[in-house]
Amino acid sequence: MKTKRWFVDVTDELSTNDPQIAQAAALLRENEVVAFPTETVYGLGANAKSTDAVKKIYEAKGRPSDNPLIVHIADISQLDDLTGPAPEKAKTLIKRFWPGALTLILPCKPGALSPRVTAGLETVAIRMPDHPLALALIRESGLPIAAPSANLSGKPSPTKAEHVAYDLDGRIAGIMDGGPTGIGVESTVLSCAGDIPVLLRPGGITKEQIEAEIGPILVDKGLSDQNEKPISPGMKYTHYAPTAPLAICEGSPERIQHLIQEYQQGGRRVGVLTTEENAGVYSADYVKSCGRRAQLETVAAELYDALRSFDEKKVDFIISESFPDTGVGLAIMNRLMKAAGGRVIR
Ligand code: AMP
Ligand code: MG
Repeated sequence: MKTKRWFVDVTDELSTNDPQIAQAAALLRENEVVAFPTETVYGLGANAKSTDAVKKIYEAKGRPSDNPLIVHIADISQLDDLTGPAPEKAKTLIKRFWPGALTLILPCKPGALSPRVTAGLETVAIRMPDHPLALALIRESGLPIAAPSANLSGKPSPTKAEHVAYDLDGRIAGIMDGGPTGIGVESTVLSCAGDIPVLLRPGGITKEQIEAEIGPILVDKGLSDQNEKPISPGMKYTHYAPTAPLAICEGSPERIQHLIQEYQQGGRRVGVLTTEENAGVYSADYVKSCGRRAQLETVAAELYDALRSFDEKKVDFIISESFPDTGVGLAIMNRLMKAAGGRVIR
């Protein structure tokens, strides 16, 4: 399949009859899959009402079929067609954070979506992305759009159109290139299906921000305890992983440098994932600086690009610094832990 590429300048006001958006939306209506930028990562979109269309997402990504998809909407009026009545706390969060990086799990209206979207669950994950191109495309398609991250399953999520092309060129109908995404980690997933909301995946909107609006929430035990089964089916899979094995080291940069030397003496090429503050400390085979520790949002924005860069450098082993688990640090550590398959050096 030849993958179409469109370049859209999102720094300009988008025209309401942009021919590129019209073309991409037409493909979505024909049940083809199209990648597009959101404020978190690039998504791989398809008509959420069509099983034919949604199947193509799973095929292109190689995604396990028991891992449900997030449905993206552009207008709040689309919500009523898809879900039952939202609990009060969900309404509060929608008012405060949509459009934005918060996905809510709500009861699904029977028959409203392809059962492949929800992987047969009675709930559905929904969000409204805060990105002009994503919103314009969804609106123009007139459809609810199922969209997981636009990467091959298991790889780091794409934060640039080049990442999407690297993974999926020839496997999907089109890629809308709107430049790099902003936040860089995926949306926060919060279940509002029960009485007390439960955090299923930390992401762009922090736990602290959510609790400031609706009070204390629960955190799925599966997030921190390897022995607990996560509520969110997707959270049990290895994810975000570079080709070389990665370990997170909780020690000081000096301790990490010591480790690097040990591995190198054993004949291995070692990469290190660090931040601007510490990059000068290391003499590894490849030193990748990823944002500033003093401002964790910058680390989130560059994390997946940094993880992908190790594949080109042909290192045998990667050591990452560790980060505080507050604010967006919780999402950063969650993704790093998955990329590391839980390997931590204490
Ligand atoms: P992705 O599409 O790759 O950003 O991942 C979406 C995440 O949301 C995965 O971890 C899914 O398992 C999770 N998810 C989607 N729908 C549901 C649902 N109905 N209940 C619980 N988790 C869900
Ligand atoms: Mg994903």
